[in-house]
Amino acid sequence: MDILISGASVAGPALALWLSRYGHDVTVVEKAPALRGGGYAVDFRGAVHLETLNRMGLRAALEVRATHMGDIAIVDGTGAQVAALPSAIFSGDLEVLRGDLAAVLYAATRERVRYRFGDHITAIAQDDAGVDVDFASGRRRRFDLVAGCDGVHSGVRRLVFGDSPQHTRPLGVYGGIFTMPATMHLHRSGIMYSEPGRSVTVMSPHGGDQIVSLSFYEPGLGFDHRDTAQQRRIIRERFAGVGWRTPELLDAMDAAADFWFDESTQIHLDSWSSGRVVLLGDAGFAGGPGGNGTGLAVVGAHVLAGELDRARGEHRAAFARYETLMRPYVATGQKQAGGSPDFLVPTTWKKIAQRNRFFKTIRYVPPMRRVFKYFATRTATAFDLPEYEVPALT
Ligand SMILES: Cc1cc2nc3c(=O)[nH]c(=O)nc-3n(C[C@H](O)[C@H](O)[C@H](O)COP(=O)(O)OP(=O)(O)OC[C@H]3O[C@@H](n4cnc5c(N)ncnc54)[C@H](O)[C@@H]3O)c2cc1C
Repeated sequence: MDILISGASVAGPALALWLSRYGHDVTVVEKAPALRGGGYAVDFRGAVHLETLNRMGLRAALEVRATHMGDIAIVDGTGAQVAALPSAIFSGDLEVLRGDLAAVLYAATRERVRYRFGDHITAIAQDDAGVDVDFASGRRRRFDLVAGCDGVHSGVRRLVFGDSPQHTRPLGVYGGIFTMPATMHLHRSGIMYSEPGRSVTVMSPHGGDQIVSLSFYEPGLGFDHRDTAQQRRIIRERFAGVGWRTPELLDAMDAAADFWFDESTQIHLDSWSSGRVVLLGDAGFAGGPGGNGTGLAVVGAHVLAGELDRARGEHRAAFARYETLMRPYVATGQKQAGGSPDFLVPTTWKKIAQRNRFFKTIRYVPPMRRVFKYFATRTATAFDLPEYEVPALT
């Protein structure tokens, strides 16, 4: 089949990898002018994620780029450590930077897949036999299937499923993330500082440049997700007067080329497909922080492509089966992520102290740490990965 994928971050190239291996003709269209770097560390945890990476043939390439992050120290305003987030829990079994993951996926697919950067879909019209797609570049083409892998603000979702506010559940947490030259001598470790409703995290996963994350809690704040100048301004205002070394990080933000900002949002749809169009990854079922979003995207890509092959291209049956299999798995991740604001951006000094006490305790009480790790991994492993026939790599 001739298949169009919108979005070249994680879900899109992961799906392209499988579809091309099954012999489909795959085009990926990405709005950005080139593959996007940047972003925080993302992790894979438990047997389901790791087995999926094995089957993709990417585990070794990702292991080479693993962050091997140590603990993240939680500090007070003077910089003194008061607790720590244990890496055994927060870095999963294999942690890589999102930009590294996207680069590995792209490298593994670029020979077999047609990538078109700097373009996007503007119209989709489908009938029983195919999908007509208009692009911003003025091109027009007919495909057999279209997959929306274009993230939380998915253009495919908007065009095919509508712009209903019922699809999005904002968690009220906003985050700005960027890279800056190392100034804090962090070697594969991190530091977190919180004031009510705001957290600053700096980490150096590869021992070089620092990745800075500035998160705050403010349900209902509106912003333009295309206007990065406005987003930087919002961060500056929210973090004005925040202590520790926040002022120097705000100055570095202005110089950062890979600044990324978004609100943590969950996507909930009654159906992930409509006719010949299907959604995967954050476009269809974003969970938010701690919701296993990256793992769900790669597992979902495997299942979607595998079911299409099993159904011999009968897309309706394949999309239905993909959804039946993945929905309960996605739901556990989304439920887990719903609690993330309490941990990321506690809203009072009392709640900050409670969080810090909790992490201090699990650090020194191994049985509690094991229980916490069990809960953190449980949602990622709650899936029976189907066995699909996969043609050997040539
Ligand atoms: C630059 C960047 C940085 C990120 N940083 C973090 C982070 O620090 N922490 C975190 O938890 N998550 C981050 N994410 C999101 C994270 O990658 C996803 O939650 C997860 O990996 C699932 O990936 P996805 O491919 O479904 O969606 P995404 O990773 O969001 O990718 C969507 C892709 O679609 C592209 N796109 C958007 N609209 C269109 C359109 N209309 N047409 C064509 N292409 C389009 C985007 O440019 C992007 O490349 C980041 C995403 C990006 C793109």
